[in-house]
Amino acid sequence: MPSMTTSKVSRWDQHGREHVVHVRKAGVQRQLRCDTCGWGKRVQFLPWLKAEEHLAGEHQATVDPSVP
Ligand SMILES: [Zn+2]
Repeated sequence: MPSMTTSKVSRWDQHGREHVVHVRKAGVQRQLRCDTCGWGKRVQFLPWLKAEEHLAGEHQATVDPSVP
């Protein structure tokens, strides 16, 4: 699991393209912003999970570059 200090979630798609969702603190919530399509969302819980869902659902990007 990512740590609380993680500020972005990056995943690669099957073509090797990197997609990044930035996670920014916004009070008690977290502001998510996707570099690829401009998608944004505010969530209070599990921002990294929401980011992963977006990356997988919208960009078919499911490869975690931090996992060997
Ligand atoms: Zn996106």
